Amino acid sequence: MIELLSIDLSNYCSKQCPFCYNHSTRNGNTIWEPQEVIGFAIDCIKSGGVKAVSLGGGEPFEYEGVFDIIDALYPLCYLSVTSNGLPLQNDETMNCLKAHKPDKIHITIHRPDNESEVDRVEHQMDQISALGIKPGLNLLVGADNVEYAKVVYSRFLKVLKPDQIILVPQRFSNTPTPKQLAAVTLGRTFQSPSCLLKCEPPKNFCSVSWDKNVNYCSYAEGKQQLQTLDYKGLMLALSKVRFVSCETQSV
Ligand code: SF4
Ligand code: SF4
Repeated sequence: MIELLSIDLSNYCSKQCPFCYNHSTRNGNTIWEPQEVIGFAIDCIKSGGVKAVSLGGGEPFEYEGVFDIIDALYPLCYLSVTSNGLPLQNDETMNCLKAHKPDKIHITIHRPDNESEVDRVEHQMDQISALGIKPGLNLLVGADNVEYAKVVYSRFLKVLKPDQIILVPQRFSNTPTPKQLAAVTLGRTFQSPSCLLKCEPPKNFCSVSWDKNVNYCSYAEGKQQLQTLDYKGLMLALSKVRFVSCETQSV
């Protein structure tokens, strides 16, 4: 049973990280219409029992119509948005958020060694809290920046609870070992993807990509196209997935 549904709204993102798992760029495409996202997610909630929806991208706050989607889904499920935080520096976006709130916003730090990125995201945690939205941090950890990630993790524990911080191992290359990831927290228990020790497709989660393909994990190959934008279409596509671990791929 799928309880957690992740939907990538586009593969447009002005940050253009070289390691982006779905190759989002400033030339990235947008295929989902806001009303399609709304209709699809509502059917998955009402017909399929989905309890939580997570909006990603691309950069969701650079997707026109994101606040319509937030308004439509917020009353029906636990709604979170994952952002790089850059659009939240824009007053217009913050004003929209005051009126159209998701339950939670995760902001990702991609470069723990980048002081200005870390300072910005720390400030944004306060700004999000002040709006009455729960903040969360996704801390991307590469094998080459474990020491910086340790410092950032300790720093954010002063403003967030441990369950608000997710350690995300960089994939495809520069991937840290499980031991390196654990070292970031200096021995504390921590949150990270459940596949840290062994690639196992999640059982209650699935990911729908910007081009309307489906898999149990956003990083895995073998996605299948949605034939219809509803829960039935989701189940049919998932039944055809040929899951290929990200460990066999390289960017
Ligand atoms: S911010 Fe996220 S979506 Fe944008 S390019 Fe970087 S990894 Fe990809
Ligand atoms: S493909 Fe496997 S190892 Fe890679 S992120 Fe997904 S579940 Fe984890």
